Amino acid sequence: MNTGNGDVLSQLPVTAIKGVGASLADKLRRLDIRTVQDLLFHLPRQYEDRSRITPIGALRPGLSALVEGEVQLADVAMGRRRSLLVRVRDGTGTLTLRFYHFRLSQKEQLPRGTRLRIFGEARLGASGIEMYHPEYQIADEPLQTPPDTLTPIYPVTEGVTQLRLRLLVAEALARMTPENLPDWLPAAENRGWFLVEALRYVHTPPKDADRQLLLEGRHPAQQRLAFEELVAHQLSMQKRRAEIRAQRAVALPEKSALAQRFLGQLPFPLTGAQQRVLKEIATDLHDTKPMLRLVQGDVGAGKTVVAAVAACHAIDAGFQAALMAPTEILAEQHAANFTRWFDALGIPVVTLLGRHGVKARREANAMIASGAARMVIGTHALFQDEVEFHNLALAIIDEQHRFGVHQRLALKKKGERLGITPHQLIMTATPIPRTLAMSAYGDLDTSVIDELPPGRTPIKTLVMPNERRAEIVERIRAQCLSGRQAYWVCTLIEESEQLQAQAAEATFAELQLALPELRIGLVHGRQKSGEKAAVMQAFKSGELQLLVATTVIEVGVDVPRATLMVIENPERLGLAQLHQLRGRVGRGAEQSFCVLLYQSPLGQLGKERLAIMRETTDGFRIAEKDLELRGPGEVLGTRQTGLLQFRLADLMRDGHMLPAVQLCAAALLQTRPVAAEALLVRWVAAREHYAQV
Ligand code: ADP
Ligand code: MG
Repeated sequence: MNTGNGDVLSQLPVTAIKGVGASLADKLRRLDIRTVQDLLFHLPRQYEDRSRITPIGALRPGLSALVEGEVQLADVAMGRRRSLLVRVRDGTGTLTLRFYHFRLSQKEQLPRGTRLRIFGEARLGASGIEMYHPEYQIADEPLQTPPDTLTPIYPVTEGVTQLRLRLLVAEALARMTPENLPDWLPAAENRGWFLVEALRYVHTPPKDADRQLLLEGRHPAQQRLAFEELVAHQLSMQKRRAEIRAQRAVALPEKSALAQRFLGQLPFPLTGAQQRVLKEIATDLHDTKPMLRLVQGDVGAGKTVVAAVAACHAIDAGFQAALMAPTEILAEQHAANFTRWFDALGIPVVTLLGRHGVKARREANAMIASGAARMVIGTHALFQDEVEFHNLALAIIDEQHRFGVHQRLALKKKGERLGITPHQLIMTATPIPRTLAMSAYGDLDTSVIDELPPGRTPIKTLVMPNERRAEIVERIRAQCLSGRQAYWVCTLIEESEQLQAQAAEATFAELQLALPELRIGLVHGRQKSGEKAAVMQAFKSGELQLLVATTVIEVGVDVPRATLMVIENPERLGLAQLHQLRGRVGRGAEQSFCVLLYQSPLGQLGKERLAIMRETTDGFRIAEKDLELRGPGEVLGTRQTGLLQFRLADLMRDGHMLPAVQLCAAALLQTRPVAAEALLVRWVAAREHYAQV
């Protein structure tokens, strides 16, 4: 894109730098570096002080240091793993460098007597003090880092070393001028730092710079850049919002007789919070600008009912509504609820799931396309090209944090055939702290259902070590024999669904042995979705008394008679996730319990975290704590949009800037659109664009 605004380095491909060919450019792309400007905005994540040489004799395990010495011996040791060992000596001691990945030529380049300059972390190895895979260079070559600066450490990727990046960045810095890399922030907002000064400083801070401040990202030069990054991020969201809001939606009548009938058949009145949020939604739906609204509400707050009322507004006016859930289990549960509610009102509900066979899907698609299906429920199967809606007016997205922003955009296309954009209602049970919401969902209006339906007894949470497992098993026996149900949740590091499944299978077998009189089921992510659904159904109907599960049951599952949940190894999960899990019990009037069965010994921090779970059932407080302890990526889930992977900004550290950031972004959009566009390109656009393909 040519912004034609003097932002020259943003147009200059990285191959313009001497020595960067197609193959290196490919590798750099993995770091989101395509242009010379991108190189300048590839910021160090750490700094090391290599300005002083440490005597080898002064090295201690754990100390990262620069040393200089003479090669005594370079040899390949066979052992369990082949390694290259290089023994180096200065006047004060001997150090062994150990390389597991090496080329044989490396050994040839290090004859006895070669002087080396080495940087690495000292540790205690088989031969005394060692360094594994240190950076090194022959000492009589010119220095790779000017000795008067701290050494920046960059995020790297395979085939691009620190050294290489440092040289490339140095080259980019040499080309940088205020003319070819203009300052787009208004002078009043730049905190006394021109862009080029700030960049030069963070890439090459003087060696007497406050290293601690730099490591924390609190140096004024960094803060100035973080501010700019947050502004760019805000701009991207406000722009996306403006784009969607510029499209046409159908204005639905504010009053709906169908919605009234639906509410009349519910066995309970809505809470005040539900009514208030519904009013906000009805007002949005009455507009020709598409609604973009996020409804936050703790687990069990009654979001689904609110969604159903919103759907009634669309259906009553002759349009279709769709609800999309992040998992098949949830989609099935919603389908069951909506079918029960809407059958009575004569509204046809159609379900579209990935696991459905070709024939079932073809039938569903035909009904969706003809308009015979008025309420459509599914998973991301709804996004597929073959799904053509007849006249979709409202898209409801449950548990939004599992979907990316791009899917949100894809959905809007579903209405394009008719020239209408669906209203979007996004529901999330993750209580998002305000600072995070401002930033993560800056493109959405938000409503909060901040009141639970009456008659719920708060869940009691117990924190216990694994040694008391037998006691817990007895408790399950007693609970289930008295007609109630229980969950046993097995957790493992989330990455491996297979290991998770194995752990759950082992626990399942163990509990079957210990509790032969109970009907026990097992559900995990490796099962076929039909199998999963069958087990869930059996648990829901009460046929199964105890359900052993992995965290696949995390969201939305509703079984009011389940009053006990045991969570194994809760210390491995984020607090927000524990809160979600725990929300599966306490859905009826009876007292419910959650047992956090941790693996002892548990550290101080771990104990504190679990204590928070015992002390409060307030999802917002828990989320705030979680954010403080684990950072935003974790709170929102790892599959969250790439948007939260800032280069420099940190929402916990820099959250206080957000009000100023929003004002600045709004002013730029209004008065200086060229600057706004250039900032977007500089910080966000390239990443976003490529994230979509
Ligand atoms: P969420 O999706 O917010 O976790 P649900 O919509 O699944 O919550 O509601 C949880 C349970 O509470 C459901 O069984 C639902 O029927 C019930 N419920 C919803 N609203 C109310 C209300 N106003 N009064 C009583 N029960 C309610
Ligand atoms: Mg729900």
